Amino acid sequence: MIKYVTFSRNVFIPITNVCRNACAYCGFRARSEKDAYITPVERFMAIIKSVRGRATEALFTAGERPELANTRFGDWIRRTTGFSSIVPYTKELCKLAIMEGLLPHCNIGILSYDELEELRPLNASMGLMLETTAEVEAHRYSPGKTPELRLEMIARAGELKIPFTTGLLIGIGENPEDRINALEILKSLYDEYRHIQEVIIQPFVPKPYTPMSNAKPPEFEVMKDTVRTARAILPDEVAIQVPPNLTSPRELIELGASDLGGISEMTIDYINPESPWPTEAELREAIAPFVLRERLPIYPRFIKQGWYSKEIRPLIEQYADEDGLRKRTESSTYINTT
Ligand code: SF4
Repeated sequence: MIKYVTFSRNVFIPITNVCRNACAYCGFRARSEKDAYITPVERFMAIIKSVRGRATEALFTAGERPELANTRFGDWIRRTTGFSSIVPYTKELCKLAIMEGLLPHCNIGILSYDELEELRPLNASMGLMLETTAEVEAHRYSPGKTPELRLEMIARAGELKIPFTTGLLIGIGENPEDRINALEILKSLYDEYRHIQEVIIQPFVPKPYTPMSNAKPPEFEVMKDTVRTARAILPDEVAIQVPPNLTSPRELIELGASDLGGISEMTIDYINPESPWPTEAELREAIAPFVLRERLPIYPRFIKQGWYSKEIRPLIEQYADEDGLRKRTESSTYINTT
């Protein structure tokens, strides 16, 4: 029986929606130059200052390798940010986030060993969805979704002792055996490196104007079956996360999920903008009688083991209680009223 269900209070920063991939289900990626954006430093600072003292996590997402999407984007990134690629720009934003009291968590696509090593001291944890180990039609135009590439990066993060978040995207053309295969491979990576803190079980949600806009999301029974299977395959210390704005969490908690991921009070879920975050009160009600606790973007086990840098140590000491969860203070009171 789990002791409590956790979530992290974050601020969601989409650095850019330009992506070299073209996943058939993606509503986030810019489809034309007219839709493309890079979040400039000024806007970033305005967002993070507005959550000061409440959120603990700056969640950075970005399209993968935007400089490879189109030769003109490389110039645009240089002009907008002053950096040659999105990685050094992200590094700069991480430094600013730390100065403003936020612990960064970057999930910006495939990164090399050197890039991970550079970002590591500035991140409490990092992430990359595996999604699936199957070759699916939805990834036909997405070179970065090759399973081997993603597994290599997850292994690199393990070599570097980066607390890591990964997960499966359910309903994109994979079958039950594929899901078992993906979970077993994640388990073997965990057995080797002990760095995976959570595995997200996320349902595909159709988005308008995408090639999969008419595809059906997975039945709830499929979500239940996947959570049950994940709990049976993954070691107990690897949490199973289910996003409460995309699925109904209580039954999934009964089957072994124990985390609800990042919840933002000031920003929307840019990947699923049609699905608003629940408020903390709604979350508590939705999961009752299970108890909700706030965590940091780095799980308690990795805090105890010292898997963090001197750059973020002051923030971890400021925010973590003796259990490695967030200290309860008045300023951490969740105020989402959306
Ligand atoms: S890699 Fe991510 S941002 Fe890029 S197209 Fe696929 S889902 Fe969208």
